[in-house]
Amino acid sequence: MSVIAANLQAVTNRIAAATQQAGRDPSQVKLLAVSKTVSPADVRAAFNAGQTAFGENYVQEGLDKIAALDDLRARLQWHFIGPLQSNKTRPVAEQFDWVHAIDRLKIAQRLSDQRPDGLPPLHVCLQVNISGEDSKSGVAPDEVLALAREVAGLPRLRLRGLMAIPEPEEDPDAQRRPFAAMRALLGTLRQAGLDVDTLSMGMSGDMDAAIAEGATIVRIGTAIFGARAAKN
Ligand SMILES: *Cc1c(COP(=O)(O)O)cnc(C)c1O
Repeated sequence: MSVIAANLQAVTNRIAAATQQAGRDPSQVKLLAVSKTVSPADVRAAFNAGQTAFGENYVQEGLDKIAALDDLRARLQWHFIGPLQSNKTRPVAEQFDWVHAIDRLKIAQRLSDQRPDGLPPLHVCLQVNISGEDSKSGVAPDEVLALAREVAGLPRLRLRGLMAIPEPEEDPDAQRRPFAAMRALLGTLRQAGLDVDTLSMGMSGDMDAAIAEGATIVRIGTAIFGARAAKN
């Protein structure tokens, strides 16, 4: 078995253990393999081990990888999980299946306008600044509902839910706090009548806490593909 296949198996086992501990069904948590900085060959190795959903952070790198793996396109789901500038929305609207980190209406409107008619609606999540730092991107928790209502009304998008990248914490209880707040926010959207089902939260270092608080997509890079070289 390749290292990537073995790592995928280990992550899958970890998801199964965390869901069981939380009294949830493992099928409720989807594994998104974060392939930023990873070669197309390694993505292909993960696909050959059964992984079909991949996350990219940088527009050009993601487009290059989608092109390099074009023979698999119909069987892969590509998720754009990085920050998105308004001048780069078009290729994302044209090439990706999901966008996770929407934090303002303008980006959502452009993605909806630019989503080709021949494709299904683009699945989107709103990124929430759940740890409340000034420097991080994401919409403030008390502004999420208003933005969600507007995004849900855009014709070529399908609002699926919320995404967050909390401040790194070592302590499991400290890890759970922002994820619990995310779960409550999703509940607020549902009570307001929005048809949302997704909490995109949890990375290699905090996925167990995220699953305990209701994550439905965990975004895992390092634990599958190994440590990344520093970028930029
Ligand atoms: C890099 C990244 C991940 C994966 O992080 P790991 O710690 O390598 O698992 C998840 N989400 C986002 C938004 C990322 O940029």
